[in-house]
Formats: sequence, structure tokens, C-alpha cells
Amino acid sequence: MRIIREQSVWQLTFMPRFFPVNAYLVEEGDSLTLIDAALPYSVKGILQAAQRIGKPIARIVLTHAHGDHVGALDALKRALPGAAVHISARDARLLAGDKGLDPNEPPTDIRGGVPKPGKIRTKPDVLLEDGDRIGSLLAISTPGHTPGSMSFFDTRSRALIAGDAMQTRGGVAVTGQLKPWFPFPAMATWNKEAALDSVRKLKELKPSLLAVGHGRMLKEPGPAIDRAIAEAERNILS
Ligand SMILES: [Zn+2]
Repeated sequence: MRIIREQSVWQLTFMPRFFPVNAYLVEEGDSLTLIDAALPYSVKGILQAAQRIGKPIARIVLTHAHGDHVGALDALKRALPGAAVHISARDARLLAGDKGLDPNEPPTDIRGGVPKPGKIRTKPDVLLEDGDRIGSLLAISTPGHTPGSMSFFDTRSRALIAGDAMQTRGGVAVTGQLKPWFPFPAMATWNKEAALDSVRKLKELKPSLLAVGHGRMLKEPGPAIDRAIAEAERNILS
């Protein structure tokens, strides 16, 4: 596991060379918020990282319900029974294994590794909606990769943890845009048009740091986000 710190954000990367999967610890005054739960075996590394920082994990927040973001959730909840688990109300259904769409959603198939019904035993404690606050973090609804994907914006530093709304591995991209050197987020994306709208919304936040599920953190990401939006527009609108 690789650990890199930027501002109050600690990036934990599992399999950094082969198939990088990130989880994040965001520091608050006396505690940590874990964003995403990586892979089943990641539990040990996540708990050790918190110990090293010297603060307890008080909250677990999930960007979306794909297997490489919720893998260690059950083991973490057993180790940290007091940590409230947060996920969007929409992706809570995916977490429970329900791949059905709502009537108002574009009828493209939900893709990627969604847990089989009953596989994840943890029930979320908090169902997030757009605009909710979790400590210093603002929850922003960014559908596209999954219908209930959420990003988290640190209001102190303008750091943005965007889950799989974007990728930086294999090139900075709006999710759904295929990057041959790391095609997996695109292959797992539900709706490209929604994904593009979501990244347009993220750009407006003028983030100082972009932190995603797959790939390195990017400082002052504005120009790279602009280029990724332009590329997605060319591909989708042409
Ligand atoms: Zn994903």
C-alpha cells in the first residue's frame, strides 16, 4: 500500500502499479473520515494508516457501490462499530444488490462490479442527498458512473474527492471516456451523458486538488478538467 498526503487528504493506494485502487482518509480536528473501502484485503492497511496518523476513523463515506470501493466495508464496520456508514440513498440500493433503474433515469444498464444481493451485510447508517455535510465535507451528487455516485468537497481546502466520476490513471478523463491504458472505469460506467454533466458541475467548484478512485492526485486540476470535458463533449456530441 502506498500513502501520499496532500493538505488534509491522505490517499491510500492498493496495487499501485497493476490496478491502482484508492481509498482516502480526510483529517478533521480529532478524527478521520474514510472515503471508500477499497478491496476486501484492504482493511488492515486502512486501519494501520489511521493508527499512523493518530486519529480514529469516525465516519465511513462511500462514493458509490462498486466492489472495488466497498470491498472492506463489512470488515471495517466490524472493527469500527461506532463509525457511521454513509452512501447516497440511490446507491444504497446498489449496495444491497438491486440493479433496477428508477422510472426517471436514462435506460442504460448499470455496469461494473455491483455486489450480489446479500453479499454486503453492512446497512448504511446515513443516506446522503446532494448538499449534505459530513464534517468539513460537502456531498455533491455526481451521477453517471453509477446513478447514485457522489463526490465530496472539502470546504476548508477545496480538495475534491470524486470517486469514479473522473479518472487520472491512463490520462485524466470524465468517466465513461475510454482510456486504452486504463479502460476499466469507462467499462463500468452506467451513463456517459450524465457523467459529463456531473463533471461540468464539479468544474464549477474550482477544486484545488482532484482525488479519484483510480490514479494519482492532481493539484490545481482546472485545466486538466477542462480538457477532459472537451474530449468527452467531442466524443458524445459527434
Ligand atoms: Zn466504480
